Amino acid sequence: MTPAETLAAAGLTAADLSGGTLVVTSPVDGSELARLSETDPATMPQVIARATEAFRKWRIVPAPRRGELVRLLGEELRAAKVALGALVTLEVGKIASEGLGEVQEMIDICDFATGLSRQLYGLAIASERPGHRMTETWHPIGPVGIISAFNFPVAVWSWNAALALVCGDPVIWKPSEKAPLSAIAAHRALERAIARFGDDAPEGLSQLVIGGAAIGEALVASPAVPVISATGSTRMGQIVGPKVMARWGRPILELGGNNAMIVAPTADLDMAVRAIVFGAVGTAGQRCTSLRRLIAHRSVRDDLIARLRRAYASLPVGDPRVEGTLIGPLIDRAALQAMQTALTAARDQGGTVHGGAPVTQGVPNGAYVAPALVEMPAQTAIVRHETFAPILYVLTYDTLDEAIALQNDVPQGLSSCIFTRDLLEAETFLSAAGSDCGIANVNIGPSGAEIGGAFGGEKETGGGRESGSDAWKGYMRRQTATVNYSTRLPLAQGVRFDF
Ligand code: NAD
Repeated sequence: MTPAETLAAAGLTAADLSGGTLVVTSPVDGSELARLSETDPATMPQVIARATEAFRKWRIVPAPRRGELVRLLGEELRAAKVALGALVTLEVGKIASEGLGEVQEMIDICDFATGLSRQLYGLAIASERPGHRMTETWHPIGPVGIISAFNFPVAVWSWNAALALVCGDPVIWKPSEKAPLSAIAAHRALERAIARFGDDAPEGLSQLVIGGAAIGEALVASPAVPVISATGSTRMGQIVGPKVMARWGRPILELGGNNAMIVAPTADLDMAVRAIVFGAVGTAGQRCTSLRRLIAHRSVRDDLIARLRRAYASLPVGDPRVEGTLIGPLIDRAALQAMQTALTAARDQGGTVHGGAPVTQGVPNGAYVAPALVEMPAQTAIVRHETFAPILYVLTYDTLDEAIALQNDVPQGLSSCIFTRDLLEAETFLSAAGSDCGIANVNIGPSGAEIGGAFGGEKETGGGRESGSDAWKGYMRRQTATVNYSTRLPLAQGVRFDF
């Protein structure tokens, strides 16, 4: 399909794509896709006021009915899957199956949230006072601002929006300025679902605002937006987090990762190699959960490096729309430059670099690179830094304690894993004295999490949790209620106050 056909299939019209100043280009071949109109920051107070008004109505719609809207969104996404997946590929350069996988993840979270809409359970708590009943109830909290990154241009929105909507909260989405077209197409799916849902859905229930940091900052600054879910770099989170907290809002921060795999002496190396290659070069190393550090036991290290070098040499780099391509382009030339700068730093810090050069032959005009494998003498400054590109640093260990210490000795705390067939090692890795990350896997790579679990990480990754488990509680306010059904007024803690 041509870019014009891909845009049209995703429902984007000529009017959508022209008349503005935000130039959107495809990383696939550098071609211009659109000049979009940006949201005027001066209109943000009206956007937020509409969401506040929508909240008054949506919070009293029964939660299972709210779930019906998200079920309809899932239906719309199923129907749009192929077109939206292809648009994600065109706009951010993911290979075709990963573009489709991103939409599948949206469908999965809609199914999850629909079921959740009948399970927003509270608690019945034993009261210490006779004739009293205590409960804990979860209520809608208010408009949720969603700020998303380029690398999951639509899935991250759906993780937040599906949950927020069943929890009774309107949403305002500011997608990455590098991927606004996928956002427009995905948001249209929700608009179609709202139209089918009927009058229970108030005007302003879901809004999309287009632009850069200034638009995001308008959401971040507003006390009328109690929850800000922000996904992106640690640099962005360091600005957004304190601003939200300073006005007593609740930030859900999903920031950078520096994910590691420990490969132990008993590991199944065939499985480990498959997991390493997908984890390190899948999505051209542009996942927050991409594998960035390989911590290999001295006994397997050389074998592992030899196998990886063979595998790396055979990986097809090229147009992500073409069947068989496994590594598409980086998002832009700045990302390519950042990768080259990191490789220079790695060499300066004692590393031996294999691969990593820009690829220009046989690929369209974009920022294509060969993935890099870098043998490092130690966990130096560059290894502790997240470079958003396919660079895998290889470190060596002798004891498991040493490996876990290396794994944890970085500022980020998102995803981690160990390949071992030794039960004691696996359990130690998952124990309180093991990995300090939000995600810890055994015999599975660090990327490609399922939506059923809570997603997020510690330290500079921001501490937020999204998606499954009880992450929904982040989109609601908790109320403890005590009811006295006796005819006396006993005080808690046995306090006497007789008069
Ligand atoms: P980015 O930080 O450049 O931008 C992310 C979003 O934040 C964009 O929408 C941007 O416009 C907005 N933004 C930037 N400054 C802002 C400000 N001051 N106020 C409000 N909004 C602001 O990140 P990116 O390059 O798009 O994405 C890559 C980064 O995202 C990587 O670090 C990656 O690890 C991280 N990421 C994390 C997760 C996760 O779940 N932990 C998921 C995806 C991506």
